[in-house]
Amino acid sequence: MSHRSYNFSAGPATLPETVIKTAQLALWDYEDSGVGIMEHSHRGPLLTKVFDDVDENIRALANVSDDYEILFLQGGASSQFFMLPMNLLGSDDTADYINTGAWSKKAMVEARKFGKVHEVASSADKDFTYIPDAASYDWSPEPVYAHFTSNNTIAGTQFATEPTVPEGVPLVCDASSDIFSRPTDFSKYAMVYAGAQKNLGPSGVTLVIMRKELVERGPDTLPTMLQYRTHANKGSRFNTPPTFGVFIIGEVIKWLRSLGGLRAIAEHNRDKAKILYDFLDESAFFSATARDDSRSLMNVCFCAAKPELEESFVELATEQGFIGLKGHRSVGGMRASIYNAFPREGVVKLVEFMKEFERSNR
Ligand SMILES: *Cc1c(COP(=O)(O)O)cnc(C)c1O
Repeated sequence: MSHRSYNFSAGPATLPETVIKTAQLALWDYEDSGVGIMEHSHRGPLLTKVFDDVDENIRALANVSDDYEILFLQGGASSQFFMLPMNLLGSDDTADYINTGAWSKKAMVEARKFGKVHEVASSADKDFTYIPDAASYDWSPEPVYAHFTSNNTIAGTQFATEPTVPEGVPLVCDASSDIFSRPTDFSKYAMVYAGAQKNLGPSGVTLVIMRKELVERGPDTLPTMLQYRTHANKGSRFNTPPTFGVFIIGEVIKWLRSLGGLRAIAEHNRDKAKILYDFLDESAFFSATARDDSRSLMNVCFCAAKPELEESFVELATEQGFIGLKGHRSVGGMRASIYNAFPREGVVKLVEFMKEFERSNR
């Protein structure tokens, strides 16, 4: 097989090697059916089993109870920014949002189109380099839900755990860039959503885990495709869903279970991130940009003491097979995205490369 680079891209991102190899075979002939996985009907027995299995495996992996629907939707996490308020936020209602960066802001912009948005806390004062302290949270009296972004892909910050909301307030989370990266008590959440392309599979699918009573709540006046219950009532197959993407998510979830589940992957992720942060802390040339207590284990953002060398660093890294290290265009610097499937070996080799770069550019 030809050579594969270490892909630090923020998304679409590295997938597990075993999953890609399984997919290669499935594309040609899925389970000796004589038909490739992409060519099977979404209502046929083989795809029905794929959908049933992925539901069951997600519940087993993450301990998601029958009080929740698991949906596979389209339009990316970005479409959840409006679909959620469309279904739950009336024009006189208020929703609470914790503003921790670009994705939170985008979610708030969409919610304001349907109702009132109250900003509970924000880290805008320091370019979103930290997660606001819980003591500073200012909840509104009766929010219909409270929304946060568990991992901030662009700024490289992450909530250590979910915020504690006032009693009875449904907690909603955009977990696009850290879903299933660590043990999470989903019973504390009313809804979790995630675009697949960072931690789950290919782009084109959005995973939604949502309490059944919320699924039912959207007004009848909404377009059918934009009501959650439409998809829940048809097992995410009201129309033709992204079947290949759901198949890959299924394989990724099986892979996570085979590694030992969320505890095991969390250990693996902590270990990988520590290698990189330890180096950044001791380096005189590179430094991490997020505040110590807010550092993301998924997206490690860093900069160089000589910013004029960042471009040549990224270029040289690319030449040596470390792909996708350029920081998001809105913040600059560098970013190493090391989601679940990113191999430890790639982090070790990146640190070696960075040490060498530091030596020759001090
Ligand atoms: C990537 C990302 C999104 C946008 O996802 P799309 O699937 O491209 O719409 C939203 N939120 C977070 C936290 C992300 O990382």
